[in-house]
Amino acid sequence: MRKEPIIIGNWKMHKTPAEAVAFIESLECKAHLAVPFPALQAAAQAASRKGIEIGAQNLCEHSAGAFTGEVSADMIVACGASFVLVGHSERRHVYGESDELISAKLKQAIQAKLTPVLCIGETLSERELDKTEEVLKRQLSLGLEGVSGPFMIAYEPVWAIGTGKSASAQMAEQAHVAIRRFLGNKDVPILYGGSVNPSNAQELLKQDNIDGALVGGASLDVKTFTSIIRG
Ligand code: PEP
Repeated sequence: MRKEPIIIGNWKMHKTPAEAVAFIESLECKAHLAVPFPALQAAAQAASRKGIEIGAQNLCEHSAGAFTGEVSADMIVACGASFVLVGHSERRHVYGESDELISAKLKQAIQAKLTPVLCIGETLSERELDKTEEVLKRQLSLGLEGVSGPFMIAYEPVWAIGTGKSASAQMAEQAHVAIRRFLGNKDVPILYGGSVNPSNAQELLKQDNIDGALVGGASLDVKTFTSIIRG
């Protein structure tokens, strides 16, 4: 029997602590929510009574020290979070994070017993040049170098994030098959992300190798997010 899909909402830079708590109190189904740092603790307290997992959207590659403005894995755990997004497309493309930096962040998360969700995906020009598999392979091999411990993967084609243009279910499944082949491990959950909404979620989640979804814009509204989770 198939496991229940893992649905992670990524709120990006939206919602104050009070707004996060109000959302969680009105959400009536299981989910994962990646919330902004200031909302972590309040969200984790509100979620603990409801089977909702709370995570961060980023972390520092160091465990402590003179790194002004950064947040460590231990601090995230102390707020009650259980997972963290690593290498989200906006971190790679807006803030210039490299695969090597992302790998160091993954190791910090695992050491602190936070489950990292490694985000990977090709740009539109890489897809047009038929380089999708090559890019995914590079991001996986560099990102996961020396990493041991439980983690999840989110396949998020850059051209599909926040654009309203999701990959088709077939396109996403093809990428997930390539990722699974590369990982050689059936136990790693592989989530799809990129303009998931209530109309396309079920078709995507029906695919054999799609174990869940990472949902950005459509996770900000309780009703929309619930209809993705309930199907
Ligand atoms: C994301 O933030 O990871 C994402 C996939 O965003 P959206 O669903 O808005 O495309």
